[in-house]
Amino acid sequence: MKLQSALHFSHTLLDQVVKPGDTVIDATAGMGNDTLKLAQLVGSTGHVYSFDIQKAAVTATKAKLAATGYQNATVVQLGHEQLDQVVRVPVKSAIFNLGYLPNGDHHVITHPETTITALEKCLALLEPLGLVIVVCYYGHPGGEAEKDQVLNWAPHLPQWEFNVLQYQFLNQVHQPPFLLAIQKR
Ligand code: SAM
Repeated sequence: MKLQSALHFSHTLLDQVVKPGDTVIDATAGMGNDTLKLAQLVGSTGHVYSFDIQKAAVTATKAKLAATGYQNATVVQLGHEQLDQVVRVPVKSAIFNLGYLPNGDHHVITHPETTITALEKCLALLEPLGLVIVVCYYGHPGGEAEKDQVLNWAPHLPQWEFNVLQYQFLNQVHQPPFLLAIQKR
């Protein structure tokens, strides 16, 4: 067994939790990698709601789904902080990749206030034993502030409602991404 990167571990967790027929959220669509993963896991009887503020991300995600034949996702150009305008049913899982789109505009980043609003909205929609996953990249301007606010917020979630896990390599150079997994009890 090899210890996995935060990104790899996020997909391992999705594999465990998300089942055919589930409704799930990709809060930061980007190039659509997580949306595609979720579409594969929920299958034709489930549904993925995918959000990004950038047109390029929405276009890329829709193209990725079209190229692979998946029709079980709704991809919208909308801030995840407004996700409750679109998703009104319980969800099994939601995933956030915080930071900027690697091959896109590095100035378009996720921001702590909107991220935390969106996280709280996901937790309100979460099914029992459902999982919200956050992969936090913070090596860019603005990233440290988001990291700090998310790490100040998560430990205060009530223990009787949620289990909160942090996963991170402690001895890697630069700013290794970390993962938070929040499970509704
Ligand atoms: N998961 C993506 C993938 O598989 O390619 C990578 C996501 S990238 C690290 C972060 C994305 O968050 C960017 O595409 C950015 O446009 C998006 N973003 C920034 N603020 C947002 C917001 N308020 N709501 C939704 N998406 C946002």
